[in-house]
Amino acid sequence: MMTHKWVYLFREGNAGLRDLLGGKGAGLAEMTKAGMPVPPGFTISTEACNSYYDSDKHFPAEMWEQTMAALRDVEKDIDKKFGDKVNPLLVSVRSGAKFSMPGMMDTILNLGLNDETVQGVIARTGNERFAYDAYRRFIQMYGNVVLNIKKEKFDEVFDDFKHKTGAQTDADMNTETLKQVVPAFKAIVKHEAGKDFPEAPLEQLSGAIEAVFASWNNDRAIYYRRMNKISDSLGTAVTVQSMVFGNMSDDSGTGVAFTRNPSTGENKLYGEYLANAQGEDVVAGVRTPKPMAEMEHDTKFPGIYTQFNEFAHRLEKHYKDVQDMEFTIEKGRLFMLQTRSGKRTGPAAVKIAIDMLDEGLIDEKTALLRVPPADLDQLLHPTIDPRLTDINKDSYVKPIATGLPASPGAAIGKVVFNAHAAELQGAKGENVILVRKETSPEDLRGMVAAQGILTAFGGMTSHAAVVARGMGKCCVAGVANLKINEAEGYLTLGDTQIKAGEYITLDGSAGLVYAGQLEVVEPELSGDFARLMKLADKYRKLGVRTNADSPHDATIARKFGAEGIGLCRTEHMFFKEHRITAIREMILADTLEDRKNALAKILPYQKEDFVGIFKAMDGYPVTIRTLDPPLHEFLPHEPEQIAIVARDLGVPASKIKSRVDELKEANPMLGFRGCRLGISYPEITEMQARAIFQAAKEVAGQGIKVEPEIMIPLVGDLNELTLQRDIVERVAQEEGVKEAGVSYKVGTMIELPRAALLADKIAQAADFFSFGTNDLTQTTFGLSRDDAGKFLPMYVEQKILKDDPFQVLDREGVGQLVKLGTERGRATRPDLKVGICGEHGGDPSSVEFCHMIGLDYVSCSPFRLPIARLAAAQAALLESEQKKEDNIYANQE
Ligand code: PEP
Ligand code: MG
Repeated sequence: MMTHKWVYLFREGNAGLRDLLGGKGAGLAEMTKAGMPVPPGFTISTEACNSYYDSDKHFPAEMWEQTMAALRDVEKDIDKKFGDKVNPLLVSVRSGAKFSMPGMMDTILNLGLNDETVQGVIARTGNERFAYDAYRRFIQMYGNVVLNIKKEKFDEVFDDFKHKTGAQTDADMNTETLKQVVPAFKAIVKHEAGKDFPEAPLEQLSGAIEAVFASWNNDRAIYYRRMNKISDSLGTAVTVQSMVFGNMSDDSGTGVAFTRNPSTGENKLYGEYLANAQGEDVVAGVRTPKPMAEMEHDTKFPGIYTQFNEFAHRLEKHYKDVQDMEFTIEKGRLFMLQTRSGKRTGPAAVKIAIDMLDEGLIDEKTALLRVPPADLDQLLHPTIDPRLTDINKDSYVKPIATGLPASPGAAIGKVVFNAHAAELQGAKGENVILVRKETSPEDLRGMVAAQGILTAFGGMTSHAAVVARGMGKCCVAGVANLKINEAEGYLTLGDTQIKAGEYITLDGSAGLVYAGQLEVVEPELSGDFARLMKLADKYRKLGVRTNADSPHDATIARKFGAEGIGLCRTEHMFFKEHRITAIREMILADTLEDRKNALAKILPYQKEDFVGIFKAMDGYPVTIRTLDPPLHEFLPHEPEQIAIVARDLGVPASKIKSRVDELKEANPMLGFRGCRLGISYPEITEMQARAIFQAAKEVAGQGIKVEPEIMIPLVGDLNELTLQRDIVERVAQEEGVKEAGVSYKVGTMIELPRAALLADKIAQAADFFSFGTNDLTQTTFGLSRDDAGKFLPMYVEQKILKDDPFQVLDREGVGQLVKLGTERGRATRPDLKVGICGEHGGDPSSVEFCHMIGLDYVSCSPFRLPIARLAAAQAALLESEQKKEDNIYANQE
């Protein structure tokens, strides 16, 4: 009796079994069920993969027996026999995880070939060349994937044969030569692996299954999972499927197509095909395929386009989402090989969600949940200034090359020719464009480091295109006249030569390449994007504010939907001309009077900025923080700079030098900063409060509503807040703020664990709390936010921490303090307004947490507002599922 089911025939599965069968296995099962022409096969479950790892890399008991039984079933179904001399069944063995990981794991095609079965293939197809071509491909793939022999070893020998016979392309190789390639490849196996190539088909099969399990934990798969936050514990399924051949004849072919354009979202079948080719030829980008639309009129494939289009529509309707499908045509017969939800760019995701909503295919909630908030970032990227791309304008700049618009946006960077250089220069903070003939999974790290990717070969579904789109990175692919001379460090595009290190600009939306650096323009929120945001606003419960320190930023933030300012860092205003001089005078002052004189010079500037910000915010609340950073940040440190400032201020350089020395701290982030400044120099807080109130009165006088909220930073004790609040209240009275009809609030940042723990007391003097999660993360972890970059990435890599806690709020620790601080604060003051204004305010997972613990708002930089709005809506929509109290501290998978 069977103890556990490890193996599922396609007809036994369905789309609901993704966890078990992987996306690929589940999709094949679903297509089989829907009556589409799927070559028969079966899937070994992800459970079997996990069991393999749990039991010291042994197949679980009975898995092999069940595999054999399934194989017999497939043989019956297709009327061929595995390992048979006369009528052999060949299979593909593929990986397939729950979430698609394109190109990251291994695949083996044509399995089952050996010196005997190849004769059967010849007899059945009458095509000897095809049979030997399949055979040599199989030995190379098997040698590479299962026996870990470098691909290049085979390529070198193959190229030698090509040379010797004068063949230009693979297709020019004749049967006789291919026949000689087979033993030559076997000799490579023997030499490199120290054993013979396995002739026995069952041995081939068990080796291939094991290799696919093993590929779950290869470096690039692990790296990909880390990047995409896919759990290591899911495992991969293995799909074994009877082969159909796209390279059997001229009326055979293979292709990849999407039900809608994955780059723009346009609702039109989109994809590519290659006649007389195997699937790997399309994905590897070695040959540039034809667009799908041409197939409609391709006399080699009559009727196939119509049939495929019909399947595509059915699949999209069934899954209610864009499908990415692989197909093969064998001697004029269409076979569906795969369907999965299609990866898409941010702009495409938005368009598709809104279109499908309009088409009645999905509802509003599904539309909102379809767009990953972080992908909106791509719509917020700059694009090339349209004046430069309009051919009718004098300002038009001619591109130096045209390729395929593989992934949208603009990218400017210095040319590099390999992933390693991209990584090195990227780490130095340089912008680079990775230029390759084509990319492979080994280039992944370089692609991450680059601003954009440019390739000579490959279509819209090549590795470069698929991966770049997934990353939201600009990519131009398939630039036919791009020639790369990596050894000598230059590329040519027609007549133009560009050296490594020189700038180029890519337009990934139009597929254009420009020499030099072009002007770019900032994005706008309009069309479908604006509609999606409106929809998000309908469902979200969390408020969204922005961190902005200037009228300009405040105006942008309003356009992106800010409902107020959650943090105005006043010190940023001090760095502008005139002001910095006055600030320095203030810091250098020996007496209170001198200090007050210097502050009096700053006051009008501060007031002017506040007037601009209040006006831009037009009635929405504006939270203004009093001075926070250590004073030494305003003084020069280098001798030359000190000399210049001394001259400007008319003081001896030695005086500045000694003040710099006095202000020097071993640990400035835990030193003389935050409210400690305002407590030591109350006149600073006084000046700032006065500037705020005078500005508020002035704007209110013009009939514009103002709601200033004065916020005291880095408070650790109620007494600190009370002292600062007293100053603000006194100034308010002196300025007659209430009489002028302006109401204001005074609150504090919660940035220290002590403040969170004592939040009930601190709330006695606070009208609102804003969690400064940058400092709160720093102080909770005891981890300097300025120095952590040196070792934190290693923490994440080694899984000591799941994410960088300065990017994704650490729910378990810091989050616990935010929750506790909120509860304690509200216990004292039920109407306490609570928000966060650290960098986490624009991170989807952190926004979700803020929603779950009932904060009033998040505040983030203007360009992250759309992300926060959508993340807040999604959090509200998913609330019912995730409300379990014991679950909220777990950072989501
Ligand atoms: C914070 O600490 O989270 C914060 C917003 O303040 P800053 O980053 O200016 O220290
Ligand atoms: Mg702070």
